[in-house]
Amino acid sequence: MPERIGMKNPIVEIDGDEMTRVLWALVKERLILPFVDLKTEYYDLGLLNREATGDRVTAESARAILRWGVGIKCATITANAARKAEYKLKALYPSPNGTIRAILDGTVFRKPIGVSLVKPSVSTWKAPIVIGRHAYGDVYKGAEMAIPGPGRVELVYTGAEGGETRITVANMSGPGVVQGMHNLDASITSFARACFLYGLDEKLPVWFAAKDTISKTYDGRFKEIFNHIYETEFKEQYQAAGLKFFYTLIDDAVARSVKGEGGFLWACKNYDGDVMSDMIASASGSLAMMTSVLVSPSGAVEFEAAHGTVQQHYYRWQQGEKTSTNPVALIFAWTGALAKRAELDKLPELAAFAKGLEKATLCTIEAGDMTADLARLADPAPARGLDSWEFVEAVGKIIKREG
Ligand code: NAP
Ligand code: MG
Repeated sequence: MPERIGMKNPIVEIDGDEMTRVLWALVKERLILPFVDLKTEYYDLGLLNREATGDRVTAESARAILRWGVGIKCATITANAARKAEYKLKALYPSPNGTIRAILDGTVFRKPIGVSLVKPSVSTWKAPIVIGRHAYGDVYKGAEMAIPGPGRVELVYTGAEGGETRITVANMSGPGVVQGMHNLDASITSFARACFLYGLDEKLPVWFAAKDTISKTYDGRFKEIFNHIYETEFKEQYQAAGLKFFYTLIDDAVARSVKGEGGFLWACKNYDGDVMSDMIASASGSLAMMTSVLVSPSGAVEFEAAHGTVQQHYYRWQQGEKTSTNPVALIFAWTGALAKRAELDKLPELAAFAKGLEKATLCTIEAGDMTADLARLADPAPARGLDSWEFVEAVGKIIKREG
């Protein structure tokens, strides 16, 4: 076997659940380990290990990313009542992504991975729409309560230096639900900055959209901060680069995005970014054709696939089926992390390997070898979609040949 490419510092490797866990091992074994003498610090965020550690492993893995600067995460189950029964859990821990993002703060950038055989379902799109999703706060750090019956719900702020402000949320006429959420000026500021920097780097105009007509104080603050950061730090550079910053209401942004040509960075609040990135990914071909990277203000980065654990495929895999689950987003999470590690540790060979693996993956698809999600959309259509194992072997063959 030819000598493998060496590494200096580790990547924080965060394993996950279900079908993505199966593919995680496959991609590592067939596409990374034969070529790279891989150094990782491993954290198992599989649901059962999160429960066994009282969810401590989740926060530990996030702190490890801050320590080492580069992490890669597999998709994980966010437990709900159905999962509690399925996995016989004792407790329901919060979303691991929510926990990790709260520790890393920052912005998640999601960009469709284009292949010429698959045209976006929005016929006017000429260039990808990149989503910049704020990764801190809002409903992901919300406090919720079920209200048993009539009564008053209030928001109370108790200042650290004393003083109290309270407002009435609702005079409830009967049982219902209530939710409180927050964000921080510092986090919104770094979100805005990260988006404007990304726009400049990638030569993309930046859109930011919220609902400040309804949420005058909360969404209004986001709008103010974006405008302020743009006016004071970026306007001149944007004008010099021929780029624009554009604010509009979220519903208007949705309408414009599907009528336009694409080719912009769409800065989204946390929940909007969750929803819009799935819309953009699906309209661009498949949830699995999307890169996702969390950039923390500290400079630490976490790469992941934007899709979930592909639960239904997992049940079929458990029945012995070789499913046709698309591993491209997972492969690109690995290449993103390896390339970042290579950049930080000055390892040109590793950087070239990461680029080569991306190229091999795209060449495989362009040559007509692809999983069923893409085969359905490809023009010309291949005779059949490959299963995940066949697809990974086809990519591996190209790396070996080009090697
Ligand atoms: P999902 O896993 O993203 O899958 C939804 C559907 O999208 C699949 O059923 C499949 O459609 C298609 N799909 C997604 N990824 C695909 C791939 N790689 N290849 C081919 N098709 C793909 O979302 P979900 O079913 O709503 O959620 C499952 C679990 O994932 C949940 O427990 C949720 O908590 C978790 N989740 C985790 C993350 C994360 O960790 N980043 C994100 C989202 C959800 P077809 O069935 O039509 O083939
Ligand atoms: Mg989502």
